[in-house]
Amino acid sequence: MLFGRSKRKPIKIPEKKVQEWKYTTCNYCSVGCSIEIGLDADKKIVTTRGHAGADVNRGKLCIKGLLEHELFTSPGRGTEPLIRERYFDKFEKTTWDHALDTTASKIKEIQAKYGRDSFAVVSTGQLMTEEFYTLGKLTRGCIGTNNYDGNTTLCMASAVSGYKRSFGSDGPPGCYDDFEHTHCLMAFGSNLPEQHPIIYWRLKEALEKRKFPLIVIDPRVTMLAQFADIHLPITPSTDCVLINSMMHVIFKEGLHDEAYINAHTQGVEELKALVADYDPKIAQHACGIDEDTIRNVARIYAKAPAAMSIWTMGINQSTHGSDGVANINNLNLVTGNIGKPGGTSLSITGQCNAMGTREWSSCSGLPGYRALENEHHRKEIADFWGIDPEFFPKKRGLAQTDIFPAIETGEIKGLWLVATNPMTSMPNLPRIRKALEKLDFLVVQDVYEDVETNQYSHVYFPAAVWAEKQGCHTNTERRVNLISNVLPPYANSKPDFWIFNQMAKRFENGKVIHFPEDTEEAFEEMKHLSAGADRTLDISGMTYEKIIAGRGIQWPFRKGSEGVKGDPRLYTDGKFQTPSGKANLIPIRFINNNEQPCNDYPFWLNSGRVVEHFHTRTRTGKIGNCNKFSPTPYMEMNPDAAHELGIMHQTYVRLTSRRGDAVVMVQLTQRVPRNMVFIPFHFHDCVNRLTLGLLDPYSRQPAFKQCSVRIERIEAANQAEAARINFESRNF
Ligand code: SF4
Repeated sequence: MLFGRSKRKPIKIPEKKVQEWKYTTCNYCSVGCSIEIGLDADKKIVTTRGHAGADVNRGKLCIKGLLEHELFTSPGRGTEPLIRERYFDKFEKTTWDHALDTTASKIKEIQAKYGRDSFAVVSTGQLMTEEFYTLGKLTRGCIGTNNYDGNTTLCMASAVSGYKRSFGSDGPPGCYDDFEHTHCLMAFGSNLPEQHPIIYWRLKEALEKRKFPLIVIDPRVTMLAQFADIHLPITPSTDCVLINSMMHVIFKEGLHDEAYINAHTQGVEELKALVADYDPKIAQHACGIDEDTIRNVARIYAKAPAAMSIWTMGINQSTHGSDGVANINNLNLVTGNIGKPGGTSLSITGQCNAMGTREWSSCSGLPGYRALENEHHRKEIADFWGIDPEFFPKKRGLAQTDIFPAIETGEIKGLWLVATNPMTSMPNLPRIRKALEKLDFLVVQDVYEDVETNQYSHVYFPAAVWAEKQGCHTNTERRVNLISNVLPPYANSKPDFWIFNQMAKRFENGKVIHFPEDTEEAFEEMKHLSAGADRTLDISGMTYEKIIAGRGIQWPFRKGSEGVKGDPRLYTDGKFQTPSGKANLIPIRFINNNEQPCNDYPFWLNSGRVVEHFHTRTRTGKIGNCNKFSPTPYMEMNPDAAHELGIMHQTYVRLTSRRGDAVVMVQLTQRVPRNMVFIPFHFHDCVNRLTLGLLDPYSRQPAFKQCSVRIERIEAANQAEAARINFESRNF
């Protein structure tokens, strides 16, 4: 008699008949996996696989990378430029010349009437670095508006701000290899298995080789929290209290690294004075973690020979985002955990090339981490581009989150959105909708013409995607990797690089500034601008060939560097990018300024990513298996809270906040505490109808994760109608 497996037929995966593999890099998240695209005998793309020789992913991919080849021909791709007089008219197809001419003349008309800054540009973290550099040239050097930002303000601005305040410069100082060396890892608001699956796999592999404590700080029992040795279910947005209290214990018990603090930091006395107020006995009441646990984790962290912190949106998307990052840096500086193997402050970045936009797009400054506020930097770039330095503003303009209120007040009249979808991604969507309707002129440049924000545009530019172009990305650990051009752009879409170059020709300075014809030449310009002994962001030793040979190279990689490996860590010599060369210890006092649960709105609303989807689902929502595994807007709710309200598993409920309402399906789970609900942020008419999005004062990043809602049961007779509303908020 046959039992079990021997009776079953093995699963057969259909033969893909791959004839050739082409090297490229994933275009979704910031992990930066190396991918090979498989082409059949007819040069048709049939599959993707992880590159086995790549340091980052060692042959592995998550579900998004495995199915990435399906996005080239997925529904909704833009085929031709579109134009219309008013946003509610019907779009007409037009030529590229007409679309570009109309846009250029509208920009000039608005600027002539209302001033240069009345036209704003909002970019993304999705383009190639060379495209960011070129967009920066166009926006800063030709159009000349100071209201220019990236959607990275929604995800990484607090990390940038915190790094600059602590270390004098942006740039994550650590790398994935630190998992192999650390003796303690503390993860703040970072759910690696769903957000960054391949980094999680790297961490798990390191833990299998050598056990070390994993401490997870998150109000929700995330997948990472389930694997943790210690989970701290913290009260939302009180990380600063917890860290201050840990430092209180560390100083009081003499566990700090006195030698490192004296040699490489400044401000320790002010920091000590502040954290003296954060005795765990008192702090426990604010952060919701009991005093013994605070002491325990402080001792584990400080006594570890090397300890590291990672964080993601749980820290950044908060009114204390920048402070949270600076305080994590404080913790690592006082314990001597910066710039050594296994000892670091590593922000896990969001979008595939959020780092590239930080480095080269000129959104918040000038190329190569240069500052608009620095006269020498303005002159350096103006001389290189061949324009008058006075053309540049002397300080940064509005962030993305301030651009929309400026539309409301009439300060901004025109807007160009590049690969960003604020009608799904911004908090308080009812307000964003009204702002977009108020614009005199909106141009949307995107791979997909059915992206929600395009409903409000006057001109649409169809853009090429991923391996339809060539250029670089920089990942979370400062690794520059290459996307090869594997196939031509879809229909009459064009690479963003081409679109920026063509637009530049329509402006006066576009005739003065050199705009290279191909991305490799733009990369050479960036290399030139990066070279310098005092610069951490130095890519002058890289070439496209070397990048492919190394499967990505970490910066700094200076001219004359041997081989194909860059520096894995920054600040190994304890010298920082501040004027004194010492890192700043910054006292962070906690101010409780978020919207809180109350009688009318008794639940915290938390949001985040699920593994199958990326951002606003413009791509993953159309890829069969990504969508199939997570098709519906849902809400995690604690069974005890549901029982009190008479709410059943898998029924529909209405959520209401002070901004709006949304209909979601209930998933009962102990992952969330009794006074909190969690909703994935990817779906269109859903969580951001409810969010408030108060802004961090330094980074201007919104607090997506801290607002309050109430939950209303929908009667059985109305469940079918609720299901229809819920279905429509999927966007397609
Ligand atoms: Fe792409 Fe990120 Fe998945 Fe790697 S982990 S395959 S970079 S989405």
